[in-house]
Amino acid sequence: MTSTSANDPLALIAELTHRCPLHCVYCSNPLALTQRTTELSTADWSRVFQEAAALGVLQADFTGGEPLTRPDILDLIRAARAAGLYVNLITSGMPLDESRLEALTQAGLDHFQLSFQGAREETAQEISGTKAHAQKLRVLEWLKHHRLAVTLNFVIHRRNLDQLPEMLALAESSSATRVEFAHVQYYGWAFANRDSLLPTREQLMQSVDFFKKSQERLTGKIRIEYVVPDYYAKYPKPCMGGWGRKLMLITPNGDALPCHAARVIPHLSFENVKDHSLQEIWESSEAFQKFRGESWMQDPCKTCDRRTQDFGGCRCQAFLLAADAAATDPVCSLAPQRPKVDAILATVAQASACAPTNISTESKPAWLYRPNPA
Ligand code: SF4
Ligand code: SF4
Repeated sequence: MTSTSANDPLALIAELTHRCPLHCVYCSNPLALTQRTTELSTADWSRVFQEAAALGVLQADFTGGEPLTRPDILDLIRAARAAGLYVNLITSGMPLDESRLEALTQAGLDHFQLSFQGAREETAQEISGTKAHAQKLRVLEWLKHHRLAVTLNFVIHRRNLDQLPEMLALAESSSATRVEFAHVQYYGWAFANRDSLLPTREQLMQSVDFFKKSQERLTGKIRIEYVVPDYYAKYPKPCMGGWGRKLMLITPNGDALPCHAARVIPHLSFENVKDHSLQEIWESSEAFQKFRGESWMQDPCKTCDRRTQDFGGCRCQAFLLAADAAATDPVCSLAPQRPKVDAILATVAQASACAPTNISTESKPAWLYRPNPA
């Protein structure tokens, strides 16, 4: 492995498992899920947390799949805390009961991020392929009795955008101090189900108006954050804060990736934490070096003033939409490939013009549900 300079990473995204009781149609996990038998052991993860802290990482985001399906979750939280990391659990709230929540708190969990598929059981069940909404409401009640920082995360899209006021009311009645409304981003299973999830421009504008007014109304009470879908943006997001700049993701079997979707890029090899130290991987591995800095950029990115803000957008999206991972992210209005994105949006607008205006009365699409790994 050759070495060039790199900043210290700030966060470690620990994909503890790809197992999950839910089957969300927008799941960002890869289409080829990691099998249970190849998951890292408790000892492997504990070493990774120590190495991450030594590298300057401050926070570990425990995610998956569903991290609570790991029977050693309490040991993993203790290990990350012992390494000096702030531990954030990103969870569907299943499988969990109040005594296990108490145990998570006792183990040192700092932050609890509960994801919702909607504000109503029916929509949540359609999207997740599981009856999970009532359990999430129970978890919300339990959280009121625990000393944990709480964020609620609502993943929003064409099928649940009419429920925003109900979602916010849920957040306001909870102990959460922060609520995220994240429009689906199109990777993994979401890319496969994209045409049924993309909102219309009108829906998007209405949602942005709602968020702005709600932020104003709830200033000082609850922090509201929202993420708009890339396809409607003028410029791309600074994906992962720039490739290999701030974050590193470890998959359930120990591969180190610069972002959760990086496996879609062909001919990119990923080092495994069982074979190399985190420092070695972060500083020198091919995957992290490939799109770090600016030398890989093509026109128009390489001479654009915004390249230090958005780093040319998302490499995985460039590959998914333009079949070239080094291309300007096609969602950028300056990208030569932007017409491809406009054509996708035109199809959505056309379909909605022919369909009923009330999305909740549309017939259920032929979803591709995320399965569970073996
Ligand atoms: S998006 Fe849904 S299916 Fe995917 S990991 Fe999260 S809860 Fe599980
Ligand atoms: S051309 Fe490249 S650097 Fe400029 S705004 Fe678009 S993606 Fe960002």
